[in-house]
Amino acid sequence: MAEAQAPRRAAFLDRDGVLIEDDGYPHDPALVRWVPGAAAALRALNQAGYWVFVVTNQSGVARGLYPEAAVPALHGWMNAQLAAQGAHIDAFEYCPHHPEAPLPAFRQACACRKPAPGMLLKLLQSWPVLRAGSFMVGDRESDMAAAAAAGLPGHLFPGGALDGFLLPLLAAQKR
Ligand SMILES: [Mg+2]
Ligand SMILES: [Zn+2]
Repeated sequence: MAEAQAPRRAAFLDRDGVLIEDDGYPHDPALVRWVPGAAAALRALNQAGYWVFVVTNQSGVARGLYPEAAVPALHGWMNAQLAAQGAHIDAFEYCPHHPEAPLPAFRQACACRKPAPGMLLKLLQSWPVLRAGSFMVGDRESDMAAAAAAGLPGHLFPGGALDGFLLPLLAAQKR
Protein backbone atom coordinates (compact mmCIF):
# COMPACT_ATOMS: atom_id res chain seq x y z
CA MET A 1 0.00 0.00 0.00
CA ALA A 2 1.29 3.37 -0.99
CA GLU A 3 -0.02 4.95 2.22
CA ALA A 4 2.22 2.79 4.34
CA GLN A 5 5.37 3.99 2.65
CA ALA A 6 7.60 6.92 3.51
CA PRO A 7 7.08 10.14 1.55
CA ARG A 8 9.26 10.56 -1.49
CA ARG A 9 9.74 13.08 -4.23
CA ALA A 10 7.86 12.32 -7.42
CA ALA A 11 8.52 12.68 -11.12
CA PHE A 12 5.33 13.19 -13.10
CA LEU A 13 5.96 12.26 -16.70
CA ASP A 14 3.92 12.74 -19.81
CA ARG A 15 3.84 9.56 -21.89
CA ASP A 16 3.54 10.30 -25.60
CA GLY A 17 6.50 12.35 -26.79
CA VAL A 18 8.42 11.79 -23.55
CA LEU A 19 8.59 8.03 -22.88
CA ILE A 20 7.34 6.73 -26.21
CA GLU A 21 7.38 8.48 -29.55
CA ASP A 22 4.21 10.41 -30.32
CA ASP A 23 3.32 8.92 -33.67
CA GLY A 24 -0.30 9.99 -33.28
CA TYR A 25 -2.38 8.20 -30.65
CA PRO A 26 0.03 5.33 -29.99
CA HIS A 27 -1.82 2.36 -28.51
CA ASP A 28 -0.50 -0.83 -30.11
CA PRO A 29 2.59 -2.24 -28.37
CA ALA A 30 3.71 -3.78 -31.66
CA LEU A 31 4.07 -0.28 -33.11
CA VAL A 32 5.37 1.57 -30.07
CA ARG A 33 8.83 3.06 -30.27
CA TRP A 34 10.52 4.03 -27.03
CA VAL A 35 12.12 7.44 -26.85
CA PRO A 36 15.91 6.93 -26.72
CA GLY A 37 17.19 6.76 -23.15
CA ALA A 38 13.72 6.39 -21.62
CA ALA A 39 14.51 3.24 -19.66
CA ALA A 40 17.81 4.68 -18.45
CA ALA A 41 16.08 7.86 -17.33
CA LEU A 42 13.41 5.91 -15.44
CA ARG A 43 16.02 3.68 -13.85
CA ALA A 44 17.87 6.77 -12.63
CA LEU A 45 14.66 8.12 -11.11
CA ASN A 46 13.95 4.78 -9.46
CA GLN A 47 17.46 4.59 -8.04
CA ALA A 48 17.30 8.18 -6.80
CA GLY A 49 14.21 7.26 -4.81
CA TYR A 50 11.56 9.12 -6.79
CA TRP A 51 8.05 7.90 -7.33
CA VAL A 52 7.62 7.69 -11.08
CA PHE A 53 4.13 8.60 -12.27
CA VAL A 54 2.81 8.79 -15.82
CA VAL A 55 0.03 11.28 -16.56
CA THR A 56 -1.29 11.01 -20.09
CA ASN A 57 -4.16 12.44 -22.10
CA GLN A 58 -5.70 9.59 -24.10
CA SER A 59 -8.42 11.26 -26.10
CA GLY A 60 -7.98 8.52 -28.68
CA VAL A 61 -10.44 6.62 -26.46
CA ALA A 62 -13.01 9.42 -26.71
CA ARG A 63 -12.37 9.63 -30.44
CA GLY A 64 -13.08 5.91 -30.84
CA LEU A 65 -9.61 5.18 -32.18
CA TYR A 66 -9.01 2.33 -29.72
CA PRO A 67 -10.88 0.78 -26.79
CA GLU A 68 -10.23 2.08 -23.32
CA ALA A 69 -8.81 -1.32 -22.32
CA ALA A 70 -5.94 -0.74 -24.75
CA VAL A 71 -4.58 1.96 -22.44
CA PRO A 72 -3.89 -0.15 -19.33
CA ALA A 73 -2.81 -2.98 -21.62
CA LEU A 74 -0.13 -0.75 -23.13
CA HIS A 75 0.92 0.42 -19.68
CA GLY A 76 1.33 -3.17 -18.52
CA TRP A 77 3.43 -3.86 -21.58
CA MET A 78 5.57 -0.80 -20.88
CA ASN A 79 6.28 -1.89 -17.31
CA ALA A 80 7.13 -5.41 -18.48
CA GLN A 81 9.58 -3.98 -20.98
CA LEU A 82 11.05 -1.71 -18.33
CA ALA A 83 11.39 -4.51 -15.79
CA ALA A 84 13.78 -6.25 -18.14
CA GLN A 85 15.94 -3.12 -17.94
CA GLY A 86 15.78 -2.63 -14.19
CA ALA A 87 13.26 0.21 -14.27
CA HIS A 88 9.61 0.69 -13.41
CA ILE A 89 6.74 3.15 -13.35
CA ASP A 90 4.93 3.26 -10.02
CA ALA A 91 1.54 4.46 -11.28
CA PHE A 92 -0.22 5.51 -14.45
CA GLU A 93 -3.08 7.97 -14.72
CA TYR A 94 -4.81 8.59 -18.04
CA CYS A 95 -7.65 10.80 -19.22
CA PRO A 96 -9.89 9.12 -21.81
CA HIS A 97 -12.12 12.17 -22.27
CA HIS A 98 -12.52 14.94 -24.79
CA PRO A 99 -15.04 17.79 -24.65
CA GLU A 100 -16.07 17.23 -28.29
CA ALA A 101 -15.71 13.46 -28.40
CA PRO A 102 -17.71 11.49 -30.91
CA LEU A 103 -18.35 8.87 -28.22
CA PRO A 104 -20.89 10.28 -25.72
CA ALA A 105 -19.59 8.13 -22.87
CA PHE A 106 -16.30 10.05 -22.98
CA ARG A 107 -17.60 13.47 -24.03
CA GLN A 108 -16.99 15.80 -21.14
CA ALA A 109 -14.99 18.80 -20.07
CA CYS A 110 -13.28 16.90 -17.28
CA ALA A 111 -10.88 17.95 -14.56
CA CYS A 112 -8.25 15.41 -15.61
CA ARG A 113 -7.43 16.34 -19.21
CA LYS A 114 -4.25 18.39 -19.23
CA PRO A 115 -3.84 21.38 -19.02
CA ALA A 116 -6.14 20.68 -16.04
CA PRO A 117 -4.19 19.25 -13.09
CA GLY A 118 -6.63 16.51 -12.06
CA MET A 119 -4.37 13.53 -12.72
CA LEU A 120 -1.48 15.10 -10.85
CA LEU A 121 -3.69 16.09 -7.94
CA LYS A 122 -5.12 12.59 -7.70
CA LEU A 123 -1.63 11.12 -7.46
CA LEU A 124 -0.55 13.76 -4.95
CA GLN A 125 -3.53 12.82 -2.79
CA SER A 126 -3.21 9.05 -3.04
CA TRP A 127 0.56 8.61 -2.74
CA PRO A 128 2.92 9.88 -0.03
CA VAL A 129 4.67 12.58 -2.06
CA LEU A 130 7.17 15.15 -0.91
CA ARG A 131 6.22 18.18 -2.96
CA ALA A 132 9.64 19.79 -2.53
CA GLY A 133 11.83 18.37 -5.26
CA SER A 134 8.95 16.90 -7.25
CA PHE A 135 8.49 17.95 -10.86
CA MET A 136 6.81 17.30 -14.19
CA VAL A 137 8.36 16.55 -17.55
CA GLY A 138 6.29 16.96 -20.70
CA ASP A 139 6.66 17.86 -24.33
CA ARG A 140 3.77 20.33 -24.61
CA GLU A 141 2.72 23.58 -23.03
CA SER A 142 -0.39 21.80 -21.73
CA ASP A 143 1.94 19.64 -19.60
CA MET A 144 3.63 22.75 -18.23
CA ALA A 145 0.23 24.31 -17.48
CA ALA A 146 -0.94 21.20 -15.66
CA ALA A 147 2.23 21.18 -13.56
CA ALA A 148 1.84 24.85 -12.71
CA ALA A 149 -1.80 24.35 -11.76
CA ALA A 150 -0.71 21.54 -9.44
CA GLY A 151 1.97 23.77 -7.91
CA LEU A 152 4.89 21.82 -9.38
CA PRO A 153 7.74 22.93 -11.61
CA GLY A 154 7.50 21.77 -15.20
CA HIS A 155 10.35 20.97 -17.54
CA LEU A 156 9.69 21.02 -21.29
CA PHE A 157 11.39 18.08 -23.01
CA PRO A 158 12.59 19.22 -26.43
CA GLY A 159 13.08 15.70 -27.82
CA GLY A 160 16.24 13.69 -28.28
CA ALA A 161 17.47 11.35 -25.55
CA LEU A 162 15.42 11.40 -22.36
CA ASP A 163 18.30 10.38 -20.11
CA GLY A 164 20.43 13.19 -21.51
CA PHE A 165 17.66 15.62 -20.54
CA LEU A 166 16.73 14.14 -17.19
CA LEU A 167 20.05 13.25 -15.59
CA PRO A 168 21.18 16.90 -15.35
CA LEU A 169 17.81 17.75 -13.81
CA LEU A 170 18.33 15.09 -11.18
CA ALA A 171 21.86 16.22 -10.50
CA ALA A 172 20.58 19.77 -9.99
CA GLN A 173 18.14 18.49 -7.34
CA LYS A 174 20.96 17.02 -5.25
CA ARG A 175 22.86 19.16 -2.84
MG1 LIG B 1 3.10 14.46 -25.01
ZN1 LIG C 1 -10.54 13.36 -18.27
